[in-house]
Amino acid sequence: MAQQHDLSWFEDKALSQREFIEKEMAKFTRTIMKESPETSPQEVEANVEDDDRDVVICVRARPVLPAELERGIFPAILTTDGGVTTEAKVYVHSLEYKLNGLPKVTTKDFGVDYAFDETASNDQVYNKTAKKLIPIALGGGVGSLFASGQTGSGKTHTMTAIENLIARDLFQSAQEYRQNQNGIPADQVSDSADFEFRVCFFEILGNKCYDLLEYPNEVTIMEDVLGQIQVNGVHEEQVHNPDQLMKIIARGAEHRKTAATYKNDTSSRSHAVCRIRIKNLRQLEAEEGLLYLLDLAGSESAADSKHHDKERAKEKLDINKSLATLKDCIRNRALAVLSTKHVHVPYRNSRLTLLLKTAFELSSTRACRTVVIATLNPSVLDTGHSLNTLRYISPLKVEIPVTSEST
Ligand code: ADP
Ligand code: MG
Repeated sequence: MAQQHDLSWFEDKALSQREFIEKEMAKFTRTIMKESPETSPQEVEANVEDDDRDVVICVRARPVLPAELERGIFPAILTTDGGVTTEAKVYVHSLEYKLNGLPKVTTKDFGVDYAFDETASNDQVYNKTAKKLIPIALGGGVGSLFASGQTGSGKTHTMTAIENLIARDLFQSAQEYRQNQNGIPADQVSDSADFEFRVCFFEILGNKCYDLLEYPNEVTIMEDVLGQIQVNGVHEEQVHNPDQLMKIIARGAEHRKTAATYKNDTSSRSHAVCRIRIKNLRQLEAEEGLLYLLDLAGSESAADSKHHDKERAKEKLDINKSLATLKDCIRNRALAVLSTKHVHVPYRNSRLTLLLKTAFELSSTRACRTVVIATLNPSVLDTGHSLNTLRYISPLKVEIPVTSEST
């Protein structure tokens, strides 16, 4: 649920703060547009083709919604595309007061791999992010996609759209994959029966997990004696075509909504997990491919936990711990790949990261790619939350060190 804001903040001031911020933002926009080097579309495309990072960090700022516009809310976030040598960036403008009481707009910027603004379609976001996880998963690797951000910023909107686009492309790609692997001409490839797809959908709420396909059955995540992660009691369904997969996704989303309505907005407090397991029937010895699609709990700060009852406060702690552990795991794994020394990936520290164990293991044979989409509410009243979200994802962008060992 979107939070209500106190607009008296605007109305109290003699100087129209809106006018002031907008004027400052316009000045700023002109400056950065002049500064950012021109990149042609071809160059940007070339950059995308070369993209082989294990971790991809994106932001998506949603539009200001009609009801918000009516209340006088306006956006304070700006994004710029990256190029061959430049990073994509997101700029957050916040209003602050100087010691003499005069207002001042402070701009903070964050570099990301892709930045999408309110004009970006779900297809555009998907094409640059989740789409690249499909060949990884079909090849027996692990692809994970996380939507993270404040409640009301567009996590579910983005994830649901992406899940449907994945359903559309997965079976198509399975055919193409088979064709490439076996050299079978396109017209002789009739179906994707070379692969078996199994889907489950559940949510992690505090230290409990509930099946979203057989709601509200409880399921448990544990590591078995062989070190394999088991989701005990979960209902898993085999799917044979995009339609079946889309129906399952809709069923899970519907149960999550119902649960949220009856149990006091659980959707902002739970992590929803859609897992697709992919078995290659032609290479039975090969590892199974995995796609993890996660709509994370709202990242708003724990500051308001004093208003909650004991159980809710504990839940809030669990959420913060799992989000913090997730950050450490993604970052440390990225560092481990680059380092010759051992880097500890603390995936056992939360249920969420334990579930994702295979995504954090280092393997010379199994490809692994993680995409994080931070969603932002562009409102001028939410810049504090937006900055928190951006500070959360910033450390995940691990730069590949330039080595001087050329001899
Ligand atoms: P969250 O899951 O982060 O709490 P939602 O996905 O429920 O947020 O989005 C909150 C509201 O904003 C919804 O009404 C949704 O339809 C709308 N919304 C989110 N992202 C977009 C977008 N990119 N374009 C248009 N509307 C959006
Ligand atoms: Mg949601």
